[in-house]
Amino acid sequence: MPSHYSETELVNAHSHSSHNLEEVQKSSDCGCFSCLKIFSPSEVTEWLADGTVVCPYCAVDSILGSMSGYLLTKDFLAEMNGRWFRKITRPPRQKNARNAIAVVVTFIVLISNIILPNNIWVLILGILGFVAVFMITIYYKLMIRRRLGASKGLEPGKYT
Ligand SMILES: [Zn+2]
Repeated sequence: MPSHYSETELVNAHSHSSHNLEEVQKSSDCGCFSCLKIFSPSEVTEWLADGTVVCPYCAVDSILGSMSGYLLTKDFLAEMNGRWFRKITRPPRQKNARNAIAVVVTFIVLISNIILPNNIWVLILGILGFVAVFMITIYYKLMIRRRLGASKGLEPGKYT
């Protein structure tokens, strides 16, 4: 997914999501990069002991105030979400699943080769197996991209 924002920007913006009570209260609006809601700072009623604001909608400490200097659009919040939430949880699982399939395919081919040495069908099956693994990888990547794309769409009702 091509990012409209630099890694530095996303990291700097994240630093405004903690110890930010004063900044958020002085802001004209604020946004959450966990549930992607944009709302008025007057709706903020909870914060942690260290002065970190907690989202009134999803209770996650991922609030940015407009005083941080970042333009709080759905697009920007979705990008922040991708950097700080999705990226951490999804790709490793996906890679593990692919690796597990690749190991199983390799085993089947090896065992078949021992049982039926130099059999052309074993070779063809092996090649088909590896092609299937690549197809599954591409399919997963498309699914993830589609899911990320959907979350960037402006559907306010989706995050309530
Ligand atoms: Zn939230």
